[in-house]
Amino acid sequence: MNDCIFCKIINKEIPSDIVYEDEEIIAFKDIAPKAPVHIIVIPKKHIGKITEIEKEDETVIGEIYSAINKIAEEQGIAERGFRVIINCGEDGGQEVNHVHFHLLGGTKLGMKIV
Ligand code: AMP
Ligand code: ZN
Repeated sequence: MNDCIFCKIINKEIPSDIVYEDEEIIAFKDIAPKAPVHIIVIPKKHIGKITEIEKEDETVIGEIYSAINKIAEEQGIAERGFRVIINCGEDGGQEVNHVHFHLLGGTKLGMKIV
């Protein structure tokens, strides 16, 4: 867990461009954006992947969607729309082992993204 790059972002051990933060959630700009707006939204609790989400995590996962709506509004993409993607495991294309929600928007998205 100490090796987790997103935990390091949470702990401010490595810099990131944070767009939202509360007690349980942090959101920052993706370092390699795949769309004009590409934000990574994560729970501060280290959860490796969505198959590891437990009953006690359901509240924060729900709150992540509220944070996403807030961020989408602030980023000016709420009205035209956006996409939320969660990759899980190797076949799902997950590269960082800390549950994260990709928030993508700012253009008409094609079907092959992230
Ligand atoms: P995934 O492939 O679903 O695991 O997505 C991981 C995402 O994290 C990719 O879009 C990366 O560009 C992004 N990423 C990796 N390292 C950082 C970082 N230090 N700061 C911001 N985004 C990052
Ligand atoms: Zn982590």
